[in-house]
Amino acid sequence: MPVFIHGTLIADNGLIPDGMVVAGGGRIEYAGPQRADLIPAGEPQFDAGGGYISPGFVDIHVHGGHGSDFMDATPSDVGQVFRYHAAHGTTALCPTTATAPLGEILAALDAIQQYRSGPQGSGRALGAHIEGPYLAMSKRGCHLPEHVHNPDPNEWKQILERGPIASMTLAPELDGARQLVEELHRRGANANAGHSEALYHEINRAVEWGVNHVTHLYCAMTDAMNNRWRGTPNPRAAGIVEAVYLDDRLSSELITDGKHLSREMLRLAFRNKGYEKLAVITDAMRGAGMPDGEYAFGPRHGMKAVVRNREARIPDGTALASSVYPMNEMVRVFRDLVECPLWQAVRMASLTPAQIVGADDDLGSLTPGKRADILFLDENVNVTATFLGGELMVS
Ligand SMILES: [Zn+2]
Repeated sequence: MPVFIHGTLIADNGLIPDGMVVAGGGRIEYAGPQRADLIPAGEPQFDAGGGYISPGFVDIHVHGGHGSDFMDATPSDVGQVFRYHAAHGTTALCPTTATAPLGEILAALDAIQQYRSGPQGSGRALGAHIEGPYLAMSKRGCHLPEHVHNPDPNEWKQILERGPIASMTLAPELDGARQLVEELHRRGANANAGHSEALYHEINRAVEWGVNHVTHLYCAMTDAMNNRWRGTPNPRAAGIVEAVYLDDRLSSELITDGKHLSREMLRLAFRNKGYEKLAVITDAMRGAGMPDGEYAFGPRHGMKAVVRNREARIPDGTALASSVYPMNEMVRVFRDLVECPLWQAVRMASLTPAQIVGADDDLGSLTPGKRADILFLDENVNVTATFLGGELMVS
């Protein structure tokens, strides 16, 4: 029955000063104001030293870190990604695959499953997030163009069977998207619109099929101010971003390193969509936590990205190629740029993403009955300790 004391609790609707958490059997038994009668004698006590006691972060879109990527498809690479992100507060994540030949995606799912069926000592593996290959060629970003194509049932059935899949990012305007979206929906997985040039009516139709989430809002999608190239009679027709704002059935996610989206864009998204429907993600690649240099996005034969000044860019410098920030830094930058309360930024990196992928019964907040996945944070959102199931993992 470990006890976590001397900290301000970050609850899902505010802060609780002088808080305390009691865990038992890997789960939270009590979370609330400090109570001496609940501190069992002779049990381990972890002292937050007056900092914050936070739920562990849940990252629903992350590719890699510390030199490794889930597409490397080896147990040591998978473990490396989990360890890096756990040290920065992520206690559960959706391993994210990148566009590659089918065999490589299946191999990555196998390596992830191998980790999942073990003790998961460096963080919990939620269902995978499959990003590509069913993307719009014009919005592929740093995904390999030679493997981008329309949904092929012979292929995607194998991916879904291999699973488990939490979500798949696809361009819903592609031929064959409807059958895939309906199958994802039937299986209880999220169908994400992303890397897409869909206009509003196309997204609206796809939401009827079952699309319920939009991948990295503003990045790799229709830009309503520049969509003449789709031949629409109205040069100011709405696109995916506007659908996120207008349709309450859609949730979305933001890369909040302050490099993908300016302060004003983050504020606009936060004001219009709110902390209950927007998750903070890292979309981190293998260059996260590494020195400046050249790193492949996704598979080792993937598109090269140059990491410099804490940005990953495609070699000609014209576009960002995912991010190199871990989750605690994403939370800090978001709080500082949007000037929201810390608990709201933390919620966007814990309970909200857990809800989006249907893991919130088990994870995402300091609530009795949920896993005792707990962080100690300081004022600058540095992670001073990570606990998984009540046990100290990193400090
Ligand atoms: Zn991604």
